[in-house]
Amino acid sequence: MNDFLSRLIQAESTVQTGERNAAKVVSDEFARSGIQARIDVWNDNRANVSARITSIGPRPALLFACHLDVVGPGDAAWKNPPFSGIRLDGRILGRGATDMKGGVAAAVTAIRRIVDSNVKLLGDIVFLAAAGEETDSSGAERFVAARDELPRFAGVIIPEPTDFEIITAHRGMLWLEITTKGTAAHSSTPHLGVNAITAAKSVIDELQHYKPNIARHDLLGDCSMSINTIAGGKALNVVPDSCKIGVDFRTLPGQDHADILADLRKIIERLKSADPNFDAQIAIVRQVGPLETDCHGDFVRDFCSTAGIAETKAVGFTTDGPCFAELGAPVVIFGPGKPEICHKPDEYIEIADLERAVEYYRKVILKFLT
Ligand SMILES: [Zn+2]
Repeated sequence: MNDFLSRLIQAESTVQTGERNAAKVVSDEFARSGIQARIDVWNDNRANVSARITSIGPRPALLFACHLDVVGPGDAAWKNPPFSGIRLDGRILGRGATDMKGGVAAAVTAIRRIVDSNVKLLGDIVFLAAAGEETDSSGAERFVAARDELPRFAGVIIPEPTDFEIITAHRGMLWLEITTKGTAAHSSTPHLGVNAITAAKSVIDELQHYKPNIARHDLLGDCSMSINTIAGGKALNVVPDSCKIGVDFRTLPGQDHADILADLRKIIERLKSADPNFDAQIAIVRQVGPLETDCHGDFVRDFCSTAGIAETKAVGFTTDGPCFAELGAPVVIFGPGKPEICHKPDEYIEIADLERAVEYYRKVILKFLT
């Protein structure tokens, strides 16, 4: 498994390189146990890899839903090259070791061990490592769109790094770009133009007082909003005709993203009626729904008792979980690695945690499918 994880890290799968090479590494690993994986390629280098261990039994299937892509290494210096996948002091190092190639390696290894042991399964195991979880969820959406080819699932396990906590809820995400429009003019005669940056300031002032109409969630807290990017103006002697701000809302179960958009459109209308020169448009950059799995249902209860963990929790980050929830099965997020290590330089995973994850996943498969 350790070599497999090193090869997966070396098969760099950032937004620039795509997931195709990493999909091949997963497919080759499954082949060692005679499991034929399917690689679904689009746009040259984007890829999902999936596998299905079929059974003749009547039980609903289990889905292990991973992602293949990783974020880039970033600008900060790494002590070791980010895509080396080297082993050091009981750890495997590199981008994706924790988020979430470690989880991929553990899930594939658990499935291989089940297959190699010839245990008779009473339901199918389905494995997916999808493209684009960090960027556009395109891989998960593509997989779920082909749901007619999939079995009925008892549950979905997402091997994201939770440091072995069972996560059943996370907030959603709504990324918006608000563009204010102005009219360019020479800045020695600003009264002949309309300043888009000043207009953006009016939007920012309004946003700082805006509170979406949703009650605080017991596990997830409040819906939050943060203005995280701003870009406008071309030169110091030109009145800017365009300014863009990027706004990140983290939303709660039961909250409709359309309500936020409607509120913001009203704010823009109000600014327009106060100043006829004001003009702004809102575009959705990306949105992911919130996740809330019923933690009192049979699947979560049995998952908890098999893992020997009593409590379920919520996390701050988002996953492709809401997309898989559309398959009509409960979703839990449970995997090796500390979430605070994700997306940072010198990412690593403890080899002992990988082995622990394999053992958890093996036990879960045996519990639900034998
Ligand atoms: Zn992840």
